[in-house]
Amino acid sequence: MKKMCPSCGRAEEKSEFVGAFCPRCYGERHELFSLPRVMEVTFCPTCGKTLSGFRIPLEKQISVAILAKVKSAHKIVDSSVKLSREGKHYVALVDVVFSVDGKGVSKQARVIVRVNKKQCEECSRKSSGYFEAIIQFRVSGERDAERVERTALKAIALLQKTTFIPRVERLAEGVDVFVGSAAEAQKALHELNLSYTTSKKLAGVKDGRKISRTTFCARF
Ligand SMILES: [Zn+2]
Ligand SMILES: [Zn+2]
Repeated sequence: MKKMCPSCGRAEEKSEFVGAFCPRCYGERHELFSLPRVMEVTFCPTCGKTLSGFRIPLEKQISVAILAKVKSAHKIVDSSVKLSREGKHYVALVDVVFSVDGKGVSKQARVIVRVNKKQCEECSRKSSGYFEAIIQFRVSGERDAERVERTALKAIALLQKTTFIPRVERLAEGVDVFVGSAAEAQKALHELNLSYTTSKKLAGVKDGRKISRTTFCARF
């Protein structure tokens, strides 16, 4: 005997019912998940990066941020987000399909996304000319000059993906690469498998904060 949904009277076709109810009525009668009604996403107007650090298009980033906030006891089997712009903010129509007792139940929500613009630390450093580190690539013997140059270029290519290089100086004793982020400078040195010495000195005060500049010296 076929099941009939007690709420809408529809007959079950392929055992898609959740308990006594059809998936649609089941979805209407249960919360299934929680999601904030209003969310905020901040992004850098200069580079387009959101402050979560991802450099993906803003609308994609909003969708990812919304889906990350879905809280549910059920497994998500499918999801989609439709965004439309309304004045200064976005309205997102979220459609999530959950697995409830092995049956697919879809549920919708509407989220208002406020978009804030704020220059990221990287871009504000760049525009202020402030940088955190210098990598000194140093030659020991005559024949090392070429290797130093090659390594410096590799480091620059790596660093340009994650930070900025305000200046490169070529000297008799090697190459100086100025780097926006000290952490990224150190990462690049590790990635290139270089041994180095580190020294730090105070570079000044910015917004009431003492700032230091790190010099990494890699000898060949
Ligand atoms: Zn029903
Ligand atoms: Zn930026």
